[in-house]
Amino acid sequence: MFPFSYTKVSSAREAIDAGRRGGRYLAGGTTLVDLMRETVERPDTLVDITALPLNDIKTTSGGGLRIGALVTMAEAAAHRAVRTAFPVISEALELSASAQLRNMATIGGNIMQRTRCSYFRDVTAACNKRDPGSGCAALEGYNRSHAIHGTSDACVCAHPSDVCVAFAALDAYVHLQGPQGERKVAFADFILRPGDTPDREHDLRRGELITAVEIPAHPRPLKSGYLKVRDRQSYEFALTSAAVALHIQGGVIRTAKVAAGGVGTVPWKLPAVERRLTGQRPSSRLWAEAAEESVRGARPLTHNKFKVALLRRTVERQLRIVGGTE
Ligand code: SF4
Repeated sequence: MFPFSYTKVSSAREAIDAGRRGGRYLAGGTTLVDLMRETVERPDTLVDITALPLNDIKTTSGGGLRIGALVTMAEAAAHRAVRTAFPVISEALELSASAQLRNMATIGGNIMQRTRCSYFRDVTAACNKRDPGSGCAALEGYNRSHAIHGTSDACVCAHPSDVCVAFAALDAYVHLQGPQGERKVAFADFILRPGDTPDREHDLRRGELITAVEIPAHPRPLKSGYLKVRDRQSYEFALTSAAVALHIQGGVIRTAKVAAGGVGTVPWKLPAVERRLTGQRPSSRLWAEAAEESVRGARPLTHNKFKVALLRRTVERQLRIVGGTE
């Protein structure tokens, strides 16, 4: 370990002041403390924000949700409003990490979690995300768990979160508070693709703090769910996953919200799948044809070619589970 200072704040203003001076926000600590132990991250100051009043879940007008950034994964997964309105969120959370981690880790921290690329965590390996300009050991290395969508020559790691896939599918927003005031960013724009700057992972300005995630209202009834495919049944990251939400009325799909996990450098929204579904009648053939759109443009690496077929099947299966096969 290395020396660092620790301060606990009691207001958002205090937190933002400390963040503006370079402090790193600490909530559950389930990512940051691990990375500090491995010396991948070496912050000078930790700013403990756990006393801030950001730990409630509210229903918004029209039937959306606002989930405070300090709500734990376990609390969000168990909350009646989440389970009733958006089971895709509860299911994604319950399939994440372990029970112990879900009791500690927060929704804000989940969004800010860093990649599980093993080269990122090995400080002797070349990694543009950890050490810009050093190269990417995964490109020529072992890349079975890496992304097939949204990659660049600088970085190919997959985004690790499950619940962020559900948020992307549901067109969520991230609420931020910073030195210049409050703002709201579409979830799809908040987590950044690597491009030439994989070290820049979020649309976050200096000192800004995530205060909440907002799930907009969607037409009702909305059936939704999350399917995760992984090497073992628990405490494992997704090889592929699919978050699906469908509003079906009069036998026709009026609204389709779909995203995939384990395959993108960011939670991978699938607008072409959504377009293929909208206005159609559910059928086995439709699920298969729509799922085909999920792999268009995929760029597999040496060891993850299997993800192309696996993603197509994961999306098709979850469409069938959520939408039925009338
Ligand atoms: Fe680093 Fe990204 Fe390459 Fe992994 S894939 S080594 S995180 S640059």
